[in-house]
This record gives sequence, structure tokens and C-alpha cells, in this order.
Amino acid sequence: MNANSKQVIIVGAGPGGLAAALQLAAAGVRVKIIERLPHVGGRTSTIEAEGFKFDLGPTFFLYPRVLEEIFAAAGRRLRDEVELIRLDPQYRILFGAGGQLDCTPNVERMEAQLRALAPADALQFRNFLADNREKLALFQPCLEKPFLGWQDVLNLRLLKLLPRLNPHLSMDAYLKKFFADPRIRLAFSFQSKYLGMSPFRCPSLFSILSFLEYEYGVFHPVGGCGAISQAMARIATEMGVEICLDEPVTELLFAGRRAVGVRTPGGLHHADAVVVNADFARAMERLVPDEIRRRWKNAKLARKKYSCSTFMLYLGVDGQFDLPHHNIYIAENYAQNLDDIENRHVLSADSSFYVQNASVTDPSLAPRGQSALYVLAPVTHQHPNVDWAREKDRFRDQLLGQIAKAGFGDLSGRICYERVITPADWDTRYEIYRGATFNLAHSLDQLLHLRPQNRFEDLDRVYLVGGGTHPGSGLPVIFESARISSRLLLEDLGVPVPGPAHAEPQCQLAPA
Ligand SMILES: Cc1cc2nc3c(=O)[nH]c(=O)nc-3n(C[C@H](O)[C@H](O)[C@H](O)COP(=O)(O)OP(=O)(O)OC[C@H]3O[C@@H](n4cnc5c(N)ncnc54)[C@H](O)[C@@H]3O)c2cc1C
Repeated sequence: MNANSKQVIIVGAGPGGLAAALQLAAAGVRVKIIERLPHVGGRTSTIEAEGFKFDLGPTFFLYPRVLEEIFAAAGRRLRDEVELIRLDPQYRILFGAGGQLDCTPNVERMEAQLRALAPADALQFRNFLADNREKLALFQPCLEKPFLGWQDVLNLRLLKLLPRLNPHLSMDAYLKKFFADPRIRLAFSFQSKYLGMSPFRCPSLFSILSFLEYEYGVFHPVGGCGAISQAMARIATEMGVEICLDEPVTELLFAGRRAVGVRTPGGLHHADAVVVNADFARAMERLVPDEIRRRWKNAKLARKKYSCSTFMLYLGVDGQFDLPHHNIYIAENYAQNLDDIENRHVLSADSSFYVQNASVTDPSLAPRGQSALYVLAPVTHQHPNVDWAREKDRFRDQLLGQIAKAGFGDLSGRICYERVITPADWDTRYEIYRGATFNLAHSLDQLLHLRPQNRFEDLDRVYLVGGGTHPGSGLPVIFESARISSRLLLEDLGVPVPGPAHAEPQCQLAPA
């Protein structure tokens, strides 16, 4: 079989699409990525303006192992392409209810931080790490394989694992086994926000997220996470992948139920298989006729649960800030804030927020003497209760007031560059269904085979990569989705799947 006779089209140059391109090109198939925006990276791209550089979306780069292996499969070393700095402290958490933690991967120093807030809880930190180390080892195989039906669930070691994974418990309920102080529980569960969920609802399995940070590190890629997308695109191009920018796919083309190509304003592009990296629900609604979908019809998409959205400020500011790289403020009444986001769909008066002060680690991001600040507040996804045309300026001012009140810095009079992105912008400008920046929610009824599947179950020769499919949203699992889907696609085309690539861990701990 001549792999090079097979043509694959990837719709979207986000991290999922780029990682799939590397895998498929390494197997020898011809790959064309078609991207609607004039740049690569999707939500993991870079905003550059007036000497400042900001990540559009992701700023926490966790668990580089998956990407290291994808680079190794492409014959490269991640470390040679992007410099990764391990952060210590990995972040500061400021509790609206009082107290703060500078969270560090150094176990003794972390215990000391915890002791200052809750002495009894500090003794449990090592137990928490040990329990999650075991949990990750048990669950990891499930993250690396496809889930194509109940048989994969029933077959699996997963059934035996279920009691160990406590599927009925939320992250917060699980953490009560270790920590009595609600602030400490939040310090190990706010990471559910990476999935766009509340720790009071997010399945306890995801306590592995905070464990991953302490065990494997929180990294800053020099130049920002967008530098990773750029590196993937550069390597893909060198491997012969064609990347067409500024060219929206307007329709997937079918012979019966089998994908045979895509349409763009530039014409028709033939393909033996199509990989969809564009936001799943939006792509289905816009690119695939409702009548040929079986399971994921528009009415079903509308009934599904979606993640929160985010209100964003990208600020170029005069002066420097005595703040760590990542800073998280957790609202005094966090439960109320989450209820506002997830159930009441209104804006909170005391919102949680996150400030990234990346120039403290990476001077390449701002002109000398200035800082690139990235501010993110989790908010409801698009809902009739909130009209962003009316709320945008008010919410921006509220957030700047909160930042000053929390002691992160008074920005008034110092802002020299500003860009705002609201959930309405995520929806319309970035083509994200309901502006739900972290895709379909990660509730138990929307995980594993209940998520849209990697080998898309509704259509032939259509594969999904990115946050909308299994395993879920967040860069390491998005890269894993690209590996799973690429393997399935190559098997279906009869192209030999390259063996697993092993990469040496390559990342350095930055000086504290
Ligand atoms: C504000 C924010 C913060 C985040 N923070 C983190 C974090 O710290 N750590 C982390 O691991 N993850 C984080 N994430 C989540 C996730 O890692 C990113 O959103 C990631 O970029 C999603 O990747 P993806 O490949 O699924 O899709 P995307 O990045 O959205 O890429 C999809 C691509 O498809 C293109 N496209 C869409 N429609 C079409 C069409 N019709 N034709 C052609 N192209 C099309 C889009 O333009 C886009 O380039 C964050 C996300 C957001 C939004």
C-alpha cells in the first residue's frame, strides 16, 4: 500500500489538528490543513500588538510527555523546538475568604504553605499525592485508547477500576477524605475550571489534574503556549503538510455517508478521509447536513451540557509587577460564583479571576519596563440572561476594580494596550458553540464513549480531534485525541501505523 497515495484533509489548525498532521505525515500520507483564520493555533495562538505578546487561550502547559512523544514520532525533540520553563511557584492562590498559598512542587515547602493555613490538612498532602499517583497509573490506559462503544467500557479494566475511581463523588467530596479546610480543597480542585466545570460537580477522577501539576510540573513555553502551535506548524510544513490559511471550510462533502472532501470559497478539495478539529458542535451545525447525522443531530447538540465561557482582558501595562507568573483569585463565595456561572447564567458581583504576569518569567513578551498581563474570568457561556454588548465595559471595570482590591496591582492610568474578548466574541469570531470555550462539559454522561467519538460514529471516514472528542479539553488530552484518531484513521485506510515513539523527559526546573 502506498501511503502517499492517500490524501487527508484536516479542518482547523488548532493544537488538535496540528498534532494529527504530524502523526499522519509521519506515517507517509498526504495531509492538507485548511484553517479559516489567517494564522495557526486556534485557541492556542498568540496575540501580538504594540510590542506585547499574549496567549489567546491556554497559559498552563502541563504534562509535556504526550507532546514529546508526538515530536519524537516526527523525528524531533520538543526541547530543540520550544524552550519549556518549569515554574516554581507554579501559581499563587489568593482566597477571597482570606489567606493565600504559593503552590510549589517542592513537597516540604508546600507542606509549610499548607500548615500556615490549616495545620491538620498539611499532614495529608503526601497521602493525596500517593492516592492520585495510583489513580493516574490505573486510569492512564483509558486516556490513551479510543472508546467506541459500551463494549470498550464493559471489556475494560475500567469496570474493575470504577470503585477505585469513585465515579459518584465530585472532586470536592473526594477531597474531603484528605482536607477539612474548604480553601485547601479548592487549592486542589480549582483545576476543574480547566475543563470549564465546578469542583462541586466535576467527577472526582479529575483530581489527577492537580496531581499532574505537582508531580510533573506546570510549564511556561518561552514565547507562550502559542509558540507550541507555531513549532508544530513549522515542523508539519517541513514534513510536507500543506497548510492553507484564511480559507474557511463551508461544507463537508459526502458520497452517501462517506466523506470525500470539503468545500471552501476557493473550490473543492478531495480527500480519502477528513479530520475535524473545528469546534465539534459548531462544525456539525454548520458543515454537515442535519439529516445525515444519526446521533449528533442539532436538537441533541442543543440539549447537551456545555462548559463555561471566559471573559478576557489582554493588557499591555507600564511598569512591572511583584507577582508570580500565575495568580488565581477565588471568590469569597465560590459556590455562589459557580452557581451564577453554571445554573443561574448571570454575572457575579464577586467573580473569581486569574491574572497571568508572564513577563516575570519571559521578558520576550513585553517591551522593557512594561508587562503583558492576561486576565481571565470564568463566566456563563452564551445565554439570553447576559447581553455582552451592554455588559462588556461594566464587567471590564468591575474586574479591574477587583484586581486592585485583591492587591494584584492598581492598573488605572497604566494601560497602554488593551483587548477584550467576551463569550459573544468566542461564539461569533472564533466559531465556538455558545462561546463554551472548553467544549462539551466533562460530566460523566459526556465522557468516554458518550463523548463524540474519535472515529466519528455518525459518518464514515470522519475523525474528530480536539477538546470536543475523547479524552477531552486541555492540551495534553487534546494531543492524545490526535494520537488516537490518527491511529484509527491509518488503520481504516490500510496504512501501517508507526510504532510508539518514546521520548526522554526533557524539561528543566526553573530556578525558584
Ligand atoms: C481562554 C482559554 C484558556 C485555556 N487555558 C488552557 C490552559 O491553560 N491549559 C490547557 O491545557 N488548555 C487550556 N484551554 C483549553 C484548550 O487547550 C484550548 O482551547 C485548545 O486550543 C483547544 O484546541 P482544539 O484543537 O480543540 O481547538 P482550537 O484551538 O479551537 O482549534 C480549532 C481550529 O479550527 C478552526 N476552524 C473552525 N471552524 C473552521 C472552518 N469552518 N474551517 C476551517 N477552520 C476552522 C479554528 O479557527 C481553529 O483554528 C484554554 C482555552 C481557552 C479558550
